[in-house]
Amino acid sequence: MRRTVLTIVVPCYNEEEMLPETIPRLVQLIEELVAESLISDQSKLLFVDDGSKDLTWEIIYKEGLRSKFVKGLKLSRNVGHQNALLAGLYAAKEMSDCVVSIDADLQDDIKVIRDFVVKFHEGCEIVYGVRKRRKTDTFFKRTTAQCFYKIMKGLGVELVYNHADFRLLSRRAISELERFKEVNLFLRGIVPLIGFKSDVVYYDRLQRKAGRTKYPLKKMIAFAFDGITSFSVSPIRFVLFIGFFSFLLSLAFGSYFLALKFLGSTQTGWTSLITSIWLIGGLQLIAVGLIGEYIGKIYKEAKQRPKYIVDVDTLNLPIPNRQLLSEQEEDELYQNVSKAGK
Ligand code: UDP
Ligand code: MG
Repeated sequence: MRRTVLTIVVPCYNEEEMLPETIPRLVQLIEELVAESLISDQSKLLFVDDGSKDLTWEIIYKEGLRSKFVKGLKLSRNVGHQNALLAGLYAAKEMSDCVVSIDADLQDDIKVIRDFVVKFHEGCEIVYGVRKRRKTDTFFKRTTAQCFYKIMKGLGVELVYNHADFRLLSRRAISELERFKEVNLFLRGIVPLIGFKSDVVYYDRLQRKAGRTKYPLKKMIAFAFDGITSFSVSPIRFVLFIGFFSFLLSLAFGSYFLALKFLGSTQTGWTSLITSIWLIGGLQLIAVGLIGEYIGKIYKEAKQRPKYIVDVDTLNLPIPNRQLLSEQEEDELYQNVSKAGK
C-alpha cells in the first residue's frame, strides 16, 4: 500500500530566533512518523517565508541543503499570516495527501500531529486542533479571544471554539478551499464551510519560547474586525435597527415638545437640541463607517488581486548532494538562488 504523504506547512515571519529550534524538532517528528510507517518518506516540511526582514530565509534555505525533508517557499513580500498559510497550502497540495499547518513558534503541541494523521487514515478530511485550556495566554488575550468567539457565534458564524490555524486538511479539502475566491479570506471561518468528515483533537497550548508575538493588539483587533465583517451582515442590520429606533424616539420627543410649546411652557431647550444633534450625528457616522467597511470589502473583491507572489520555491529546485557541501559552498548556493529569484 502506498503510504500517506504528509506536508507540514509553517508560515514564518521574522522567526530567526525560533527556527533553529523549530526545524530540528519538526524534522525529528517526521522521521519518527516515517519510522512508524504512518507516513511516507516523501513527506516534507514546507517553511513559508512571509517577507521576513531577518535571517529567516537563509536559515530555511540552508536547512534545506542538510535535510531532505526541509523545503522553503519565499514570498516576494510580507502578506500576513493567513495569506502566507494559503501560499503554503496550495504549494503543498500537489505533492501531498494531507497537509498540516502549524505556527513557527510551536506553541501548539506537535505530538498531536500523529493523532491528526491517524484520524486522516480513519477517513477524516479535516482535523481541527483545539486548545484545552488557555493557561499560557495572558488574561487579556484569553478574555478578548473568548469574547471574539462569543460575538462571532452571536452573529451566526460557525467557528470551532479555541481552534487556531493548527489543523490537518486533506488534498481534497484544499482543492475545495481553492474554490473560495474571496480576497478577505478568514480561514477559521471558511474551513468549517467546506464540510466533509471532520474531527477534533485536544491539546495544551504552550508558551512562545523565543522571538516576540507578531500579533500585537492592533493586529488582533484588525483580525477580529475582518473576521466579523467578511462573514456577516448583522452589524449593518444592527445599525439599521438603531436608526429606526432613534427615529421613533425622536417622533415621540417631537410631539412632547410640541405639546409643551402649545401649553405655553417652552424652555430654552438648548441642551436637548445639542444632545440630539450629537446623537444623530454619531449614529450617522457609525452607519456610514460600517457601510464603508462593506464597500471596501466589495472593492477589494472586485479587483481580484493575487493574494501572494512566490519569489523562490525550493520544492521544485534541483538540490545538489547535501552531505558533501562545505559551509562556503552552501553560502554560494544560497547567494545564487537568491539572485535567481530577483
Ligand atoms: N506570521 C506570518 N506573517 C505575519 C505575521 C505572522 O507568517 O505577518 C507567522 C508567524 O511567524 C507565526 C504565525 O504566523 O509562525 C503566528 O504568529 P504569532 O505566533 O506571532 O501569533 P500569536 O501566536 O501570538 O497569535
Ligand atoms: Mg504564536
